[in-house]
Amino acid sequence: LPPFDPADPLGVDDLLEPEDLAVRATVRDWAADRVLPHVAGWYEKGELPQIRELARELGALGALGMSLDGYGCAGASAVQYGLACLELEAADSGIRSLVSVQGSLAMYALHRFGSEEQKRRWLPGMAAGEIIGCFGLTEPDHGSDPASMRTHAKRDGTDWVLNGRKMWITNGSVSGVAVVWAQTDDGIRGFVVPAGSAGFSAPEIKHKLSLRASVTSELVLDDVRLPADAVLPEAVGLKGPLSCLSHARYGIVWGAMGAARSCFEAAVDYARTREQFGRPIGGFQLTQAKLADMALELHKGILLAHHLGRRMDAGRLRPEQVSFGKLNNVREAIDICRTSRTILGANGISLEYPVMRHAANLESVLTYEGTVEMHQLVLGKALTGLDAFR
Ligand code: FAD
Repeated sequence: LPPFDPADPLGVDDLLEPEDLAVRATVRDWAADRVLPHVAGWYEKGELPQIRELARELGALGALGMSLDGYGCAGASAVQYGLACLELEAADSGIRSLVSVQGSLAMYALHRFGSEEQKRRWLPGMAAGEIIGCFGLTEPDHGSDPASMRTHAKRDGTDWVLNGRKMWITNGSVSGVAVVWAQTDDGIRGFVVPAGSAGFSAPEIKHKLSLRASVTSELVLDDVRLPADAVLPEAVGLKGPLSCLSHARYGIVWGAMGAARSCFEAAVDYARTREQFGRPIGGFQLTQAKLADMALELHKGILLAHHLGRRMDAGRLRPEQVSFGKLNNVREAIDICRTSRTILGANGISLEYPVMRHAANLESVLTYEGTVEMHQLVLGKALTGLDAFR
């Protein structure tokens, strides 16, 4: 029998191909070099000062639009994309959010629903990280219920004129292009809005206590006039943005386990070295029970992510299964981070350790891409056939 590996107690790595391991190692090394030495400082200041450089480096790694084909994208497998999300979020959820919004929301919307011309215009620059993108669905008064959005696009001759507000938009202020969802006479449609458009602005949202190493913005659209070909031709109705969200949520299923792994590792290290009552706190049964329970949920979550990844690669992943993974893995990840925090005692609240930062970040991850309650309602509906949303 192979020896027990504390880093991979279930032997999940046996499911990986050599290319998968290479992708994981590349992203892990990049994050260790470019994010980990700086992220506590960025977090403390509430900024991501090197976002453009980081985006270009992530582009060079092939991490932007990673599982998309063509147009400069890496064409990686869903499992490889997931492994990258896990390694990025082990550094910080803000960096994984940058990559998720760029690749799974903005680029995915263009790739799946855009015209050939739109894809050629935007995707190569976005894949290279030269152009940052954002995805505007949520509004100040409409979050979980995007079907009620008020942002609208009206025809004026052949042009479109957009008015409205979007809220909590990741990458907004640094984006060169925004994919904005709006009501039209034909239902909800997606629009490609270049950041320089007259009437468009993206003020940054400050004073966040979570996801502080991430740019979050409002999008303001005041009579933004766009040509006829600004609309994404292949998306009509809410299923357009929802399919993008499903792709991004899939990445979060993996990513959340990265944040959890980072906290768990910090807790194990601390428990082995911190002494109270004359011996390491890891030698007390109560601490071991916490570590054992955390290891169960961490590695079950990683196994679940692999399972969903293989289904996505086989073209068999249903949105309800993504809800299953997002609900479970983010909820368990935040629990692991909070329990790790208790093991670190007072040090657990310090930015000297990654634990509180991850726990606070996961409060956002728990809410965005569908709150816990929304995913419970998705599963409740799938299990009973009864719609409890309204
Ligand atoms: P609400 O919808 O008002 O919900 C408040 C509470 O009520 C929640 O607990 C919710 O579950 C509950 N609730 C609502 N309806 C029901 C119901 N029927 N039954 C039971 N409970 C219910 N959005 C984007 O479009 N693009 C982005 O890039 C983006 N980035 C984000 C980044 C950050 C840091 C954050 C925090 C959010 C981001 N969001 C983004 C917005 C996010 O998707 C929304 O916050 C989320 O969908 C929830 O909407 P809300 O905040 O308006 O909460």
